[in-house]
Amino acid sequence: MATRPAPAISPDTEFFWRGLREHKLLIQRCNGCTALRHPPRPMCPGCRSLDWTAVESSGRGTVFSYVMPHQPRFPFFDYPYIVVLVELAEGVRLVSNLCDIDPADVAVGMPVEVFYQRFDDDLVLHQFRPSSRVPGGSR
Ligand SMILES: [Zn+2]
Repeated sequence: MATRPAPAISPDTEFFWRGLREHKLLIQRCNGCTALRHPPRPMCPGCRSLDWTAVESSGRGTVFSYVMPHQPRFPFFDYPYIVVLVELAEGVRLVSNLCDIDPADVAVGMPVEVFYQRFDDDLVLHQFRPSSRVPGGSR
């Protein structure tokens, strides 16, 4: 498989990619109003505070939506692959890939959990797979 293209990393998103290398899914939390937000950006859309902290997500959530791209074909993906919008237990949504599942079995609302996949020395990406655990529950 060819190397995946690296994400564009800015000063605003660098903490997120660094967190992935440490196997942590980090989400911005506003220090003004405590709202969580993703993708990372400098200002809180709610209270306009520029002050924030990175908090670690449980990595558990549910499938909010998904697509299976067919064209154009990229050499760095195995087909079919699933692009998923995950709603994390904390309430924010993020884009990722859903793995370890037959595409015919994907359903909106199904529980998923994060895992981390290394693609080369610098690139670690968050991926999701089906979970038998209920989001927010304990086991
Ligand atoms: Zn805020």
